[in-house]
Amino acid sequence: MPESEYNEARSEIERLSELLHRYQREYYVEGRPSVSDLEYDRLFDRLAELESKYPELKQPDSPTQRVGTEPTETFPEVEHTVPVLSLDKAYSSNEIADWIQRTTKRSGQALSFVVEEKIDGVAIVLYYEAGRLIRAVTRGNGFVGNDITANVKTIRTVPLRLPEAIDVAVRGEIYLPKDRFEEINRKMETPYANPRNLAAGSLRRIKSSEVARIPLNMFAYEGAFPQQELSHIEVLEKLTVLQFRVSNRIGVFSNRLDTEDLEARYPEWSFGKFEELPEYIEQAASERDALEYEIDGLVVKVNELQVREELGYTGHHPRWAIAYKFESPQGTTTIKTIEVQVGRTGRITPVARVEPVQIGGSTISNVTLHNQAYIEMLEIAEGDQVTVSRRGDVIPAVEKVVQKNEVGNPVWHIPEKCPSCGSRLEVYGAHHFCRNNQCPDQVRGRLHFFIGRNQMDIENLGPETAELLIEEGFVQDLPDLYRFDFERLKGYPGFGEKKIAAIKAGLEKSMSQPFRVVLPSLGIPEVGPNVTELLIRAGYTSIDKIIRTAEQGESEKLVDIKGIGEKTAATIIEEFSRPEVKQRIEELKKVGLQFETTAADKTIEGEDSIPPLFEGENWCVTGSFERFNPRSKAMEYVKAGGGRTSSQVSGSTTHLLAGSGGGSKLQKAQQLGVEIVSEEEFVERLKDEGIQIA
Ligand SMILES: [Zn+2]
Repeated sequence: MPESEYNEARSEIERLSELLHRYQREYYVEGRPSVSDLEYDRLFDRLAELESKYPELKQPDSPTQRVGTEPTETFPEVEHTVPVLSLDKAYSSNEIADWIQRTTKRSGQALSFVVEEKIDGVAIVLYYEAGRLIRAVTRGNGFVGNDITANVKTIRTVPLRLPEAIDVAVRGEIYLPKDRFEEINRKMETPYANPRNLAAGSLRRIKSSEVARIPLNMFAYEGAFPQQELSHIEVLEKLTVLQFRVSNRIGVFSNRLDTEDLEARYPEWSFGKFEELPEYIEQAASERDALEYEIDGLVVKVNELQVREELGYTGHHPRWAIAYKFESPQGTTTIKTIEVQVGRTGRITPVARVEPVQIGGSTISNVTLHNQAYIEMLEIAEGDQVTVSRRGDVIPAVEKVVQKNEVGNPVWHIPEKCPSCGSRLEVYGAHHFCRNNQCPDQVRGRLHFFIGRNQMDIENLGPETAELLIEEGFVQDLPDLYRFDFERLKGYPGFGEKKIAAIKAGLEKSMSQPFRVVLPSLGIPEVGPNVTELLIRAGYTSIDKIIRTAEQGESEKLVDIKGIGEKTAATIIEEFSRPEVKQRIEELKKVGLQFETTAADKTIEGEDSIPPLFEGENWCVTGSFERFNPRSKAMEYVKAGGGRTSSQVSGSTTHLLAGSGGGSKLQKAQQLGVEIVSEEEFVERLKDEGIQIA
């Protein structure tokens, strides 16, 4: 081969690599490509062609690595140069406040703290030498991880070559965007429980060409740079300069730092004093569902790197960072038996009775298993040892099986017949249902729901009385409550004249509950307070209008309502077409309940009844208020009134509600020309719509 040709190939490979690195970065990191896909593919194919002709000229960080390489046998174990320790955890903003105080005291100086999102993905450490990615290592046990370099190279936002020839270890989190997860998982034979598991599973594929097909992404959040950066903020800046993808959902909290410069440079970050941190946490938690990725908490870090060094580590955790976890911790326990519950809609829920276990400060002995598909996915059997978690305030759920039972119990199956009434169960969608309207458990569930404090709120008629009415056969369905002669309870223990008169008064009073309360109290699937509100706003001001739409099967009319999806619309149509539902409504109408809105409804207090006066607006709040404490209460009105809220003032903010002592947000709002609204003006605006704030 002529030497000139070989040299030409070498320089063309170098040139193409350089170009393609740039194009990949523009496309995947910066989101603004400068060449067409066609041109990109042409250059890419040319490079691949040259590389296959001259394999010895192929660079280890070649852009063609993005599509994966030959199968790797194993993922060899590699020692981390700096151990990757887990973080200490907190579950409330009080704990965070305590930690900040403790840390500040320990350091003996005023500190600033950076708050980042804790992305629920796969932690990775990227080792660069002379600016080239040489190793990507999983967290492992914190000291030794697995080398999965070939697979990580397929992730477009992981730089293979840095613009500076430096040695650095960068920590990041690899994740799969939620929407892509749904899309990919749907096609999988054995679906994954969450995006994290799918991401972790793909990173362990032997063929990196298979990994390349999974649209994984990465955020970088720590870098151990040789020259001493002064602060974590500077580290984040440096990472950005080195073309890593860094999240811009960052909060900086300090009682001493002058953040004016930073605020100008990072309009998307949030800034505040320590007392504003709890609200930031609350807001971040409320915004998590809208993110393209899953987060399971926030991380609060000391900004001053020198102080980090001084604070050092406990045996298990760095002292300079703490994780705020949204979810309560998990516990491990054993399933004693599995039973099914029949809900008020006839839906069957399998429930595991477990050995009592302490989780997040309460004792758990019943754990939901959701449905048959969930049981099969986790392969749950009686006698299995499982981890149980409490997500927020909802019912605890089994997360995974830790150890199978030793007696060989098979994966559990929902019985064929309803345990309450013996009817054959039917499968609709993901769930089993008992379709017998008179099923005792359903009647019981409907009744308890209906009288509950968040629904009709029938005074003096509690669960015990309801139970007695059912057991004695006095009440078989909701309308019976209003038809039953309560005098007949005379002689039952605890039912004197006064008690009976009180129950009757409670029922009488409940008859004036407005339509927007009556409708969700019926316990019809999908028709809760929010959907009710949407329906009423869209003109469905009476039950007759809803039933008419259902009878004519006009689900497209419902789908047209913003906030109502196809599934909800289909359920509404189905439910309001069912004869027994219509009959129940007809009878409740006869006994005198409100099934249409009246003029008086408009002036009712409470967020449920707010007209859409904030629609199309994006609000932010700062400072403190007389009537709204915490100030997030004010934002509840905005949300209930169809507006959006965010924790930070940005280009999309339309209004800033400013109380006394508003700081940086107020300044920024003024700079951006955002409309600034005082507490008085805000209250006035609500009042104009008939909403009184006490
Ligand atoms: Zn039944």
